[in-house]
Amino acid sequence: MEIQQNASLKGLNTFGVNARADYLTEIHNHDDIEALLEWKVQHDLPFLLLGGGSNLLFKNDYKGLVARVCLEGKDIAAEDDNKVYVSAAGGENWHNFVRWTVENGYAGLENLSLIPGTVGAAPIQNIGAYGVELADHFHSLQAVNLETSEVLEFDLEHCQFAYRDSFFKSHTLDKLLITSVTFALPKKAEWKIDYAGVREVLEGKEPTAQSISDAIVALRQSKLPDPATIGNAGSFFKNPVLAVEKWEDLKVNNPDIPGWKQPDGQIKTSAAWLIDQCGWKGYRKGDAGVSQKHALVLVNYGNASGVELWQVAEDIIDKVEGQFGIELEAEPRVIG
Ligand SMILES: Cc1cc2nc3c(=O)[nH]c(=O)nc-3n(C[C@H](O)[C@H](O)[C@H](O)COP(=O)(O)OP(=O)(O)OC[C@H]3O[C@@H](n4cnc5c(N)ncnc54)[C@H](O)[C@@H]3O)c2cc1C
Repeated sequence: MEIQQNASLKGLNTFGVNARADYLTEIHNHDDIEALLEWKVQHDLPFLLLGGGSNLLFKNDYKGLVARVCLEGKDIAAEDDNKVYVSAAGGENWHNFVRWTVENGYAGLENLSLIPGTVGAAPIQNIGAYGVELADHFHSLQAVNLETSEVLEFDLEHCQFAYRDSFFKSHTLDKLLITSVTFALPKKAEWKIDYAGVREVLEGKEPTAQSISDAIVALRQSKLPDPATIGNAGSFFKNPVLAVEKWEDLKVNNPDIPGWKQPDGQIKTSAAWLIDQCGWKGYRKGDAGVSQKHALVLVNYGNASGVELWQVAEDIIDKVEGQFGIELEAEPRVIG
């Protein structure tokens, strides 16, 4: 395990924030995990696991060790009458893995095409898009406990997946390294195309995993700013879930407010709508701002610092709270 000192993290986070880490290393195999465990015992320093850096905001330089998970490999683990079980290592690129399943004729993950990041990070916030969540096709994952070196297996129930949340996000950040994830993909596909314009983009084409994946890629490219061109971390805020009474109160003065009933009876509303109503779309201060394409996406036009981006986020939170009495919650992890 090689360790770089005073390393730039600019190319390792999709916001393109020019933070530095005191120490940076890459985890490619089991020996690197062992070396990492030893390093942690010898150094009493903060420690952070990093995937593709697409769900993080580095507010400041990182005064500890950043370990980038680069474990590779994917395969068909098993098969039964109804399902195919496919596994991928934690460092595999998520979109490449989805395309690999699609090209092999397996359905289930196509709606999650083009989400940036790694397979190992995907369960952390139970990634979701276009009516599908990771939890819908999750089978199990393997992780190494970085305090005890134990190898652990988690099934669906133990992961406690919820809307952009999981057991790992709430309890084990930087304590468990997710080494591989297995998905159970149905042999008889059920397409989800009646969501946010997917059917329209298909233009009458027969739905297949391939055609839906292509449609999702086209939709996402038309709606979301590409981090390769303009730094961002996708949606910066979670959609708030409100008690019915609160929702009904808001509806009186805001008849257009979107709302979706949740299984528990509460109402999920649109953070993008709330932010847009407060006039933030296209806002810019220095190099930090809000995308012109999407009110939910904070952007770095070039050299914004993590502090400047977080200031925009805090200003949005204050304004939305003032106007609607709703406290927005950041979706990405804010470090430092
Ligand atoms: C343009 C854009 C669009 C996006 N669209 C969506 C979307 O539609 N839906 C959605 O849900 N998300 C979306 N995201 C957010 C992001 O892509 C996902 O959350 C993704 O899973 C993050 O993966 P990552 O490898 O980049 O994780 P990172 O940002 O590197 O890390 C995220 C968290 O996971 C932890 N972590 C990383 N790897 C491991 C591991 N192997 N073991 C344990 N912990 C680990 C980190 O410590 C951190 O807490 C988008 C982001 C961008 C930039």
